[in-house]
Amino acid sequence: MKNVYIIANWKMQQSPEQAQQVAKDLVKKVKKDKIKRGREVVICPTFTELPALSKILKGNQIGLGAQDVAEEDYSAFTGGVSAAGLKYYDCEYVIVGHSERRTYLHETNQQVNKKIKLVLKSNLIPIVCIGETFEERQAGQKEAVLMEQLAEGLSGVWVHENQKMLIAYEPVWVIGSGQAVDPDEAERTHAAIRRALLEHLPAKIVSDNIGIIYGGSVNSLNVKDFLDRPSIDGVLVGGASLTLDKFWPIINY
Ligand code: PEP
Repeated sequence: MKNVYIIANWKMQQSPEQAQQVAKDLVKKVKKDKIKRGREVVICPTFTELPALSKILKGNQIGLGAQDVAEEDYSAFTGGVSAAGLKYYDCEYVIVGHSERRTYLHETNQQVNKKIKLVLKSNLIPIVCIGETFEERQAGQKEAVLMEQLAEGLSGVWVHENQKMLIAYEPVWVIGSGQAVDPDEAERTHAAIRRALLEHLPAKIVSDNIGIIYGGSVNSLNVKDFLDRPSIDGVLVGGASLTLDKFWPIINY
């Protein structure tokens, strides 16, 4: 059975106290009610909370991820956070190319490409975000944008048998809007992404080592509609992952 990925992107939404409290509440809940089999739950807090959350989550069936990584190994790179440093704090996953970084920090597909390579080289799992803006969609460019993000982001990327990679399809215009895309459309888009991946990587790697997850206004009411679709291997959740009462029904939908 393939894992179902439930990834929380906490962005920069909480104070240290809030983040640590939610993590502790989650651990307590997991001990009491258990996570269903085959669910891979991962929390991606802001960088400064990684050391604390690493201690809180350790050994409790919840993985840790970072929201970004520097595109260079240890080097003169002011403000950067290295992949090796993330590993030291027990991170297993790294979000790469989130639309907020692409939009506000003008991160390019070429930078995303360097980060993916570094993350894989460091034996971490990249969660590669791709997605079209509303304007691109209105202009009929959705497919072309996604294919370019994939082609340039994955140029020269190789995933080995002992590695994993997640692609997160996040339509930029629904992120944080409270209105997810139609799950049928997400399913068709995921199938197109899977076909495109076959141009970059062997079929066995695409089927066994790569998950394609959906992100954008996922909540407890719509999560099942997405995860029931055969091409959707998980969800990336922002707003609805910030409190236990909203996140638990998503984890154990
Ligand atoms: C995100 O930004 O990755 C995200 C999925 O946010 P939200 O769930 O709040 O739309």
